[in-house]
Amino acid sequence: MQIPLLTRIPWGRVNWTTSIFLAVINTLAVTAVPLYIWHYGLDWFQVGLFLFFYITTGLSITLGYHRLFSHLSFKAKAPVKLTALVFGACAFENSVLDWCSDHRKHHKHVDHEDDPYDITKGFMWAHIGWLLFKLSPELPMDNVNDLRRDKLVMWQHRWCIPLAFAVGFGVPALLGYLWNGPSGALGGFLLAGVLRVFAVQHSTFFINSLCHTVGNQPYSARCSARDSAIMALFTFGEGYHNYHHEFQHDYRNGVKKTNFDPTKWTIWTLEKLGLVSDLRRVPDGKILLAEMNEARRRAEAQLQQPESIAAVFGHQMHEMFDHLSARLAANYEALEKAMTEQVEISRQAIERWRRETREFTALLSDLDRRLPAAA
Ligand SMILES: [Zn+2]
Ligand SMILES: [Zn+2]
Repeated sequence: MQIPLLTRIPWGRVNWTTSIFLAVINTLAVTAVPLYIWHYGLDWFQVGLFLFFYITTGLSITLGYHRLFSHLSFKAKAPVKLTALVFGACAFENSVLDWCSDHRKHHKHVDHEDDPYDITKGFMWAHIGWLLFKLSPELPMDNVNDLRRDKLVMWQHRWCIPLAFAVGFGVPALLGYLWNGPSGALGGFLLAGVLRVFAVQHSTFFINSLCHTVGNQPYSARCSARDSAIMALFTFGEGYHNYHHEFQHDYRNGVKKTNFDPTKWTIWTLEKLGLVSDLRRVPDGKILLAEMNEARRRAEAQLQQPESIAAVFGHQMHEMFDHLSARLAANYEALEKAMTEQVEISRQAIERWRRETREFTALLSDLDRRLPAAA
C-alpha cells in the first residue's frame, strides 16, 4: 500500500545532512530539554548561559549576517565582524557567504521562482521546507563577490561547521561542566546549545514565513513583506519587514523611534563606542513619500469598488474621504517637488504631512475593515 504524502515527496532532492540535523535539534528541543528541566530543575547559571548564547547568536544573525554582510548597511571593525562570524556560525544557518547569497536572491526575486524562500510556494516552504530540499538546478553564488574579498568571511566559510560545533555546543557543555559536573555539562549542551539553536533558527525562519504573511504594508504592497510589532519581539527587531524590503540598505528595520528593534539599538551603541561607522539611513522625506504613495494606491483601490463610499457609509464619510484624499495628493506633490529640487524641508512640514497621511491611512483601514471586498 502506498501512502499518498510519502509518494509526493521528491526523495531524490532531499538535503539529508540539513534535514537530519533539523530533525534531531527539533526533536531534542521538545523532548530531552523538558525532561532535563523536569529532572534537574533550572539554576541561574544555566538560564544566564542560555540567554547569553541566545542573544549573542541571534544578534550575530540579525546585526551581522543580515544588516552588515548581506545589506552593507554600516561598516564594522574587525572585533565586531569576528564576533558576528563566530557566533553567527553557532546558529547553524550555514556560513555567512551562503546565507548572504540566499538572502540577496530573496530580495532581488522576492515572491518569484528564484526567491529561495518564496512565500508563494506556501508558509511551510518559506519557513523550513526550502532547507530540506536542494534546488534543481542549484543557483550559482554569483552575488557575493564583494564578500569573497574579505579574509575573515572566507575563513569563516572554511571553518563554519567545526566552529559551530565547538563554540555552539562544546563551550556551553564545558562551562556547564565547570559549574556543576556531568549534569551541568548536559544542561549546558541542552539549554545553551540545543534549545538556543532551536529558538534562534525558528526566529530567523519566522522572518521568511510569518513576516511575509502577518502584519500590514504601510510602505508598499509591491511584495508580500509585512510590518508586525509582535513579530519584532521574536526576531530581534526584524519584524518591520515591509519597511526593510522597501529600504533594504537602512541599518534600521524599525524606523520609528518607538519601534522595538534591539538590533538597531546595538548598532547605534557600537557606533558610539567607535566600533562601527557609516550607518546608512534613508531620508525622512523619502520614507514619507513611500507612505503617501501607498496611501494613494489604497485610495484608488477604494474608488474602484462598485459600491460607492457614500452609498455604504453615508455622505459625511464620503466628504471626509474626498477631503483627506485631496490633502494627500497636494502634500505628495509638494514633497516630491521639494525633494526633486533638493529644497530643505522643515521638520514641522514633514511631521504635519506624516500626521495627515496616517490619519488618511487609518480611515482607509477602517473602510477596508467595514467593506472587506474593498481590501
Ligand atoms: Zn523577506
Ligand atoms: Zn534583508
